[in-house]
Amino acid sequence: MSAHTLTDAPVTVTAHLVAKSGNAKTGPIPVSTTERASCPTSCAFYSGCYASHGHTRINWAKVPERGGPWAAFVGKVAALPDGQLWRHNEAGDLVHVDGVIHAPALRALVQANSGKRGYTYTHHRLTPANVRALRDANAGGFTVNVSCETPAQADIARAAGLPAVLVVSEPPAKGATTPDGHPIRQCPAERSAVTCANCGICARPDRQAVIAFTAHGPGARGVREALQRVRLEEATAGATR
Ligand code: SF4
Repeated sequence: MSAHTLTDAPVTVTAHLVAKSGNAKTGPIPVSTTERASCPTSCAFYSGCYASHGHTRINWAKVPERGGPWAAFVGKVAALPDGQLWRHNEAGDLVHVDGVIHAPALRALVQANSGKRGYTYTHHRLTPANVRALRDANAGGFTVNVSCETPAQADIARAAGLPAVLVVSEPPAKGATTPDGHPIRQCPAERSAVTCANCGICARPDRQAVIAFTAHGPGARGVREALQRVRLEEATAGATR
């Protein structure tokens, strides 16, 4: 455990904000990246996610030189225009200390996002402290979606009052639901010309639907293998998130 408490632990990770993303999926909205130390080791994809490949991997490795300290990054977010939709963490996760979300760092980001429409995803564990931090962020207008690997995990997130997304091996069938009956909807960018810039569903914390993202690209095989591993663990030990 770190010698620091969560209120005084210095934020050492850097983050970078691109004003207009060239990512075909997000469309031309501001997009950020936080360096890899922000990722929880508990993430099912920690040893290899989609961001570990291609241009995203190269850009991710350059965050310390292209980006800046957390406070400077937060200042850039605060300077975005009112109403701006933006995505936090094309790669990376929420700042943490030993798997506990750094609540002061997140609160600073939530405040900077005031009046904007920021959204992100997290693989941090849903411990009581992390759930509190995530609820506060969502209530404060910064949408943090809980990234899940099984529909049962999505139910755990929804039961905690948090918006959920789901990584899937194959696109969900029409009308698919989680075991608790939450609708599972495929991200529209996977089947049409929609981009995040003109969709924005992930920035709505009050939505019912669990948004599904299909494994794709050069990291798809590793993602499918990780999904299979999580499903097997869940079948023997029950769902955790
Ligand atoms: S559901 Fe909409 S906002 Fe979310 S990733 Fe897909 S296109 Fe972007």
